[in-house]
Amino acid sequence: MESLPLLLLLCVATCSAYPLAGAAGDEDSSMELLQKYLENYYNLAKDVRQFVKRKDSSPVVKKIQEMQKFLGLEVTGKLDSGTMEVMSKPRCGVPDVGLFTTFPDMPKWTKNNLTYRIVNYTPDLPRAAVDSAIERALKVWEEVTPLTFSRKNEGEADIMISFAVREHGDFYPFDGPGQVLAHAYAPGPGINGDAHFDDDEQWTKDTTGTNLFLVAAHELGHSLGLYHSTNPEALMYPVYNSFTNLARFRLSQDDVNGIQSLYGPPSASPDAPLVPTESSPPEPGTPAMCDPALSFDAVSTLRGEILFFKDRHFWRKSLRGLEPEFYSISSFWPSLPSSVDAAYEVASKDTVFIFKGTQFWALRGHEVQAGFPRSIHTLGFPQTVSKIDAAVSHKDKKKTYFFVWDKYWRFDEKRQSMEPGFPRQISEDFPGVNSKIDAAFEAFGFFYFFNGPSQLQFDPNAKKVVHLLKSNSWLNC
Ligand code: ZN
Ligand code: CA
Ligand code: ZN
Repeated sequence: MESLPLLLLLCVATCSAYPLAGAAGDEDSSMELLQKYLENYYNLAKDVRQFVKRKDSSPVVKKIQEMQKFLGLEVTGKLDSGTMEVMSKPRCGVPDVGLFTTFPDMPKWTKNNLTYRIVNYTPDLPRAAVDSAIERALKVWEEVTPLTFSRKNEGEADIMISFAVREHGDFYPFDGPGQVLAHAYAPGPGINGDAHFDDDEQWTKDTTGTNLFLVAAHELGHSLGLYHSTNPEALMYPVYNSFTNLARFRLSQDDVNGIQSLYGPPSASPDAPLVPTESSPPEPGTPAMCDPALSFDAVSTLRGEILFFKDRHFWRKSLRGLEPEFYSISSFWPSLPSSVDAAYEVASKDTVFIFKGTQFWALRGHEVQAGFPRSIHTLGFPQTVSKIDAAVSHKDKKKTYFFVWDKYWRFDEKRQSMEPGFPRQISEDFPGVNSKIDAAFEAFGFFYFFNGPSQLQFDPNAKKVVHLLKSNSWLNC
């Protein structure tokens, strides 16, 4: 008995094809898993029993290829170890292709104010924890659309949410612990829009079991009319990701694009604090937050929030997704210049550095530190540099990048000195970043570079641009 898990582990790690030759029992069970997976999620005809056993049969190879392509795996047409591994992970019960999910007429709700009802509860969690998980999951979608959700305690709601095991009154019985976690129906009357959760799973608030919030946010995406995404970073990817950092949970741009293609962005709320609290109504020349042409002078994090500087003002946006707030720079830091060129945070020192022309300031919260402004040349810039375009500090590496036209310098925050060998060309070390940078900041391990109305999300480890965004995408626009 002891050697069995080891054998399987070795196989996953070393074999290109699964299963090991000679392990007849394992082969049967993986073929069975493949058959079921293709039937359930890739619309393989159910009457073709044992079809997949004929390894040369091209319809099955085609289905395997279709699955590998959808799930972002290497397309081999074979049941290899990587495919086997993803197939054995828990996932959503809604198929990736096929009748159930194709929703041919793109159903969506024709009203923006939807109702939901939590019909029953899992014994795994206190009721308040279930209520809160569902509320937060709805909020994920509410924040990026004009949709609102109100709760009903009785009668029929648009979205009926329930926990059930095995056969539960629709044509898709649950399967016991593991594999299928939940499923949901696209918008419409009756069962449509409803979300069902398999109560044979261990539902949890954290990720020790199956996290209810994460699965609910995914299922409610179906309830609103979204299909599965092939992007493994998207919430709508069909396979459950237990490594999601809950504290930093965010919809991917793919999810936002998907839901906004159905319902559009949130409508401007009349009571949203879009104007400075200290000067209302807005003075002439106040930048419009959702202007598609909006660009920024500088962007920096500050104690878990993001500050977007524009002329004499800045927006302050919490990463927890609340509405941005708008202030004048002078109302926070009266001794700063009226506008800024660049800004970055060194979180380990709880300090934000602000640049304007050849001078820079250090801020701690509301306070400008004594001894500032100083000259940027004390940091090691040559006299020819008279202005910094953008700056961003890489938290983990303790290095700060300064961007000036098409070049950049790197500053070692530990040694407090400019590194030798700089400046270097931005485009050489940041492939895909080919224009002057207005502003930059770091969050979630990514660098965000701003140029006019566009923004690039750059992965510093993979050294590539992963998304092109609107500059004001952080401001709920
Ligand atoms: Zn799903
Ligand atoms: Ca299950
Ligand atoms: Zn169901």
